[in-house]
Amino acid sequence: MGDYMKKILLLFIVSFILIYPTFSTSIKYNYNKKNIAITFDDGPSIYTNDIINYLYENGCTGTFFVLGNKALKNQNTLLNAINKGNEIANHTYSHPWLTHLSDEEIIEEINKTQDIIKNITGNRATLFRPSYGDINKKIKKMINLRIVFWTNDSRDWKYKSAKTIASNVIRNIKDNDIILMHDTHKRTLDALKIIVPKLKELGYEIITVSELLRIREYHEFSIY
Ligand code: ZN
Repeated sequence: MGDYMKKILLLFIVSFILIYPTFSTSIKYNYNKKNIAITFDDGPSIYTNDIINYLYENGCTGTFFVLGNKALKNQNTLLNAINKGNEIANHTYSHPWLTHLSDEEIIEEINKTQDIIKNITGNRATLFRPSYGDINKKIKKMINLRIVFWTNDSRDWKYKSAKTIASNVIRNIKDNDIILMHDTHKRTLDALKIIVPKLKELGYEIITVSELLRIREYHEFSIY
């Protein structure tokens, strides 16, 4: 290779190195990283602020599927969650078995919670998770929100030990998982303190469900 060609090549490499960071920072999400969403159901409770603050200190965000009646009693907690980049989602007003309710009661459970979230945070929730995962085709059609279940169950409602809860999550973990937890127990925060460092070590970015779905759709609609 002649000196001239070498200089051109060097110039090309140097410009690429200089320009590349500008490109990469202009992209909000890293589409090539492994991603996980952690979801917290049934709150907000007296433990929720500690969870929000722990996530924030570790550069993570979560999705809180709140109950309307608890959101009303813990409005500052919802604001703290929003201010720290978390997502608020709808988990009904009073945690009923939806399939046991009349159509009017179902709509009320959901709309009341939508209004409460909007009044507190200024934004409407776009995601819904049915209490007990109890839903059918007819109810799905009635609901104007994206229905989100989970792919990885911590079973933090069942197990008392933070270690067991953490291992339930970690031993099955895979890219794009939506982890189910409940911000209604102290042990959930203790388990989180094992889960978050481990997931980071494994190269996962911990983001909200809406971000995760956006990235997933980006990949699904990309042509390979
Ligand atoms: Zn629930």
